[in-house]
Amino acid sequence: MAELSPREVDNVLRSMARYIAGCRKRTSYWRRLSLSHLRKSLEALRKLARDGARCPFCGMHFRKKSALVSHLIRFHRYELLEILERNKRRHL
Ligand SMILES: [Zn+2]
Repeated sequence: MAELSPREVDNVLRSMARYIAGCRKRTSYWRRLSLSHLRKSLEALRKLARDGARCPFCGMHFRKKSALVSHLIRFHRYELLEILERNKRRHL
């Protein structure tokens, strides 16, 4: 697959965080980027998040899903990037 631009990476990381937090799905373009299997990779984290109430990486609690999304992007960017990289490598 083509290398993702920095902007695309940011968009994908945000959509991953939203998916984990149980926000309305905006994952249709994952397929276009050959990243459909992200869904499966994130399923366990999504369950741990219990509908956006808890960070699956550090256990911190949140009242709003949007707060978890911001937290994931700000504090767990590295973990999300690692998952993204793992998924990209499957296609090489
Ligand atoms: Zn956390």
